Amino acid sequence: MAVYDFTGKVVLVTGASRGIGRVIAEEFVKAGAVVAGTATSDAGAAKLESELNALGSSGKAYGFVHNALDLAAAATLVAAVSEKCGAAPDILINNAGITRDGLFMRMKDNDWDDVITCNLSAVARLTKACISPMIKKRSGRVISITSVVGEIGNAGQCNYAAAKAGIIGFTRSLCKEVGARGITVNCIAPGFIETDMTKVLGEAALNHWLENIPLKRMGQALDIAHAAMFLASADASYISGATIDVNGGMHCA
Ligand code: NAP
Repeated sequence: MAVYDFTGKVVLVTGASRGIGRVIAEEFVKAGAVVAGTATSDAGAAKLESELNALGSSGKAYGFVHNALDLAAAATLVAAVSEKCGAAPDILINNAGITRDGLFMRMKDNDWDDVITCNLSAVARLTKACISPMIKKRSGRVISITSVVGEIGNAGQCNYAAAKAGIIGFTRSLCKEVGARGITVNCIAPGFIETDMTKVLGEAALNHWLENIPLKRMGQALDIAHAAMFLASADASYISGATIDVNGGMHCA
């Protein structure tokens, strides 16, 4: 991949303890950034901080506890990140996400509400908390992780698909509001990526997905991290409002 230098940049990555967020956080630390990574527990935050700093890169990592279901915590998180990292985030990666799958007719209201709160409302709250300092600096990058499911739908995931499609509409609208302030707003739509989230799928579901992926393999978290680094870089300064598909060809917008 291209070699990027994010020295001097503060990058906030939600859900950085595992999976896609963890690899995104690692890549930004390797590229010299000060990374604020979140986990839902003290142990997770401490682990990600020590493991990312042990990479021996020029960047630096700090772990924070954050539960996206607590919408009011967004402003507190950004204040804590700004204090510890020395500046408000220059780059926000809205990555944390959950699934609570089930057929719509049987879906519990809580499962609908939690997924919409964590995967959509929390993205809006955190972006709002980060955007004011970005407007003052007249620069910034907002990158949110949506999903191919938000583009094509998936039986059993009405809540998840609604939240992820919401991120795409949010991104397209916000980019129009803040573009004149030097801020780009984009999202990445991963396909089928090998993480804890997809580990729970049975062999039949796995084979079904693989049959529909032209590249005939699952994606890796690093595939998503590469797209995030590109969108955060100066090379992508004229890209805004976009949804970058990283899905091995399973859906072409
Ligand atoms: P993952 O392996 O399940 O990791 C989820 C991350 O989110 C963890 O760091 C977890 O923290 C954090 N998290 C969970 N609940 C949270 C909450 N209530 N508040 C804040 N953080 C919370 O997931 P992943 O596969 O890496 O997915 C990352 C993003 O990519 C998600 O938005 C997901 O929807 C999207 N995505 C994934 C795929 C895929 O195939 N994997 C495809 C399309 C889109 P803890 O470790 O503390 O629990």
